Amino acid sequence: MTTSAEIRRKYLEFFKEKGHAVIPSASLVPENDPSVLFTTAGMHPLVPYLLGEKHPLGARLCDVQKCIRTGDIDEVGDYCHHTFFEMLGNWSLGDYFKKEVIAWSFEFLTSPRWLGLNKNRLAFSVFAGDSDAPFDSEAFETWKNLGVSENRIAKLPKKNNWWGPAGETGPCGPDTEMFYWVGDADKVPESFNDDNPLWMEIWNDVFMQYNKIIDGKFEPLSQKNVDTGMGLERTLAVVNGLDDNYKTDLFWPIIEKIENLSGKKYDENLKGMRIIADHLKAATFILGDEKGIAPSNTGQGYVLRRLIRRAVRYGKQLGMKSFSADIAEVIIEMYKDVYPELLKNKNFVLENLGQEEEKFEKTLENGLKIIEKIIEKSGGITSFHFNGDTLFDLFQTHGFPIELSFEEIDNARIKNGLGLVDLEIKESFTKQFFTRLKRHQDMSRTSSAGMFKGGLSDAGEENKKLHTATHLLHQALHDVLQTEITQKGSNITVERLRFDFSFSRKMTDEEKKKVEDIVNQKIAQKLSVHKIIMKKEEAEKTGASHVFGDKYGDEVSIYYIGDSLDSAYSKEFCGGPHVDNIGTLGHFRIIKEEAVSAGVRRIKAVLDKTSN
Ligand code: ATP
Ligand code: MG
Repeated sequence: MTTSAEIRRKYLEFFKEKGHAVIPSASLVPENDPSVLFTTAGMHPLVPYLLGEKHPLGARLCDVQKCIRTGDIDEVGDYCHHTFFEMLGNWSLGDYFKKEVIAWSFEFLTSPRWLGLNKNRLAFSVFAGDSDAPFDSEAFETWKNLGVSENRIAKLPKKNNWWGPAGETGPCGPDTEMFYWVGDADKVPESFNDDNPLWMEIWNDVFMQYNKIIDGKFEPLSQKNVDTGMGLERTLAVVNGLDDNYKTDLFWPIIEKIENLSGKKYDENLKGMRIIADHLKAATFILGDEKGIAPSNTGQGYVLRRLIRRAVRYGKQLGMKSFSADIAEVIIEMYKDVYPELLKNKNFVLENLGQEEEKFEKTLENGLKIIEKIIEKSGGITSFHFNGDTLFDLFQTHGFPIELSFEEIDNARIKNGLGLVDLEIKESFTKQFFTRLKRHQDMSRTSSAGMFKGGLSDAGEENKKLHTATHLLHQALHDVLQTEITQKGSNITVERLRFDFSFSRKMTDEEKKKVEDIVNQKIAQKLSVHKIIMKKEEAEKTGASHVFGDKYGDEVSIYYIGDSLDSAYSKEFCGGPHVDNIGTLGHFRIIKEEAVSAGVRRIKAVLDKTSN
């Protein structure tokens, strides 16, 4: 078996011999490109140089770059598409062009000194030409001159053989792709047909000749570049004669762990196990990145949350529980030499995975029940009508992500012999969903601003922060002291909070430290704060804490901290006001813990400003 480490080494060695400098893998979060959330290809971190800036290491570069492609998430489950993968790449910044790079690609693939792949199992494609750019005859002729027969060189349109730009604008151009036949060795088709999925794309040489500008035009680049990208997982599979990336050393230890934890076999659970392995690997790399991202409801954090939650959901179907951190440990072990940042951030990775999984398990149980109930109420799946609003309510009240709602509805339809929900319908409902989400976010912002004016007119921003911190403290005390904490009073000045609660003894230093740590951990997670108004009886059922014997009206407001009422870290009957997001609180510190009367303790605490 050839190992992944050998392929990485060979690739870099080959291009070093051809005069290339090796550059390190950049972060998964792009530095110079606000148009995408993640680095999707090796060329990303190099955009400024592809646009003409001088690179300090010269005009020939190569590397192994970690990549995330969430656009491929629906394909994950097949044998060769992942959300996280490594791309081997080499670049010419205005130096060599088509002839040289095609010849090198061929040499690296076929020479016995390098990968030694069987020439008869290779096929190629080149750009056929259209109104933006002509047929790439140079690429076509170069392959032919290397001995490739014409029926193994397909001429394909822009959809297939044009790369980029990665966002709306940027460098782009025609490309030539290399495919390997992963079907039976004695059934290699004479001519190449890119519709057959057994031809797996392994490498792509892009010829950056154009820059797409904001009005959609293609301008010739003054500096012509080459940008190539070869998938490490796919290459490793074909070099070892495998037709499944998950059977290589880049996945198999993860699959084995999943088999172990679930007691089920990979061969009988391909899709689920692949999705779990893939998504948790991506999540581990996002959390463990140099720019470590935590789960949240926006941007990269939201993608991360979706990946973890989807993996957890598939894991649950295989009967696994609290498994994501165990699997992440295997992943970190596999990759720690190549990506030392994973080891450095190990605690952060494991902690966040565990927490997100726990949160989601609660959400999931409730959400699935609710969907079933809605379907039942409407007389079964055939007469069940839903729209963006239904989906939004599921999300808002139960934290159920829209794509999971769709999957559950699809599952129910399939069980009943119906087809999947139409793609167009999904798209239009998704739009509706996000319109409502945005409206909701705007509203909760203005309502808390308004209330601030009307209610506690002398309560400054600091006061609001301390008030929100009091809620966190309340819950953290409950968690650490492992008993029902009854609030006996609370008082807030501009510089400190004071919280009285029923408890029979002095807290130990360790307990105080634990409480501080929990509160600060929650602050670091930047959880958002929400208010909802409910009938008192219903509100009591949510488990939100309130002061027994206090008088409440028929309708009460609950403030909760977290994504949804179900999964919230803290929920309390309260009039507010509070901050919108606890990420702004600063650093929570207990300054005193003392007795006020028999069985009642008092904590005084402050929020120290932090640099961000
Ligand atoms: P495909 O058509 O198979 O999705 P692509 O055209 O999107 O591939 P490129 O953008 O050309 O791929 O990326 C260069 C190389 O990176 C590919 O040849 C392939 O080896 C690898 N690659 C691309 N996407 C993935 C993925 N989702 N998972 C694993 N490897 C990938
Ligand atoms: Mg693709």
